[in-house]
Amino acid sequence: MTELSYSDWKETLRGGELVGQACEECGNVTASPKAACTECGSRSVSRTTLPEDGVVYSETTINVPPEGYERGYKVGIVELGDTGARVLGRLDETAEIGDEVVFDDTFEHDDEPAPVFESK
Ligand SMILES: [Zn+2]
Repeated sequence: MTELSYSDWKETLRGGELVGQACEECGNVTASPKAACTECGSRSVSRTTLPEDGVVYSETTINVPPEGYERGYKVGIVELGDTGARVLGRLDETAEIGDEVVFDDTFEHDDEPAPVFESK
């Protein structure tokens, strides 16, 4: 099994690829590194490439952004492909729950990258 550290995850995301972890016991897929499976607790989790297409699961508009950022940008949770993995990312202004989106770019804040999704 190939382990995925948080720094690996960040570097891969910056390189334009979404990676997560798949559980070898129950098949659960997560969109970020975890020490153990979030479903069954197994430590047999390995790195997996995630689909770049997803559906908006929830969204919210940040009206009080961190200093230096424009007001009113959207963030949300995107469910990726048919994996069930959900990732927090930045969305374009028109994205609504249920919309199909695609991974497009990364957004940096305080040395933490986040995926950016564009509506299809
Ligand atoms: Zn599991």
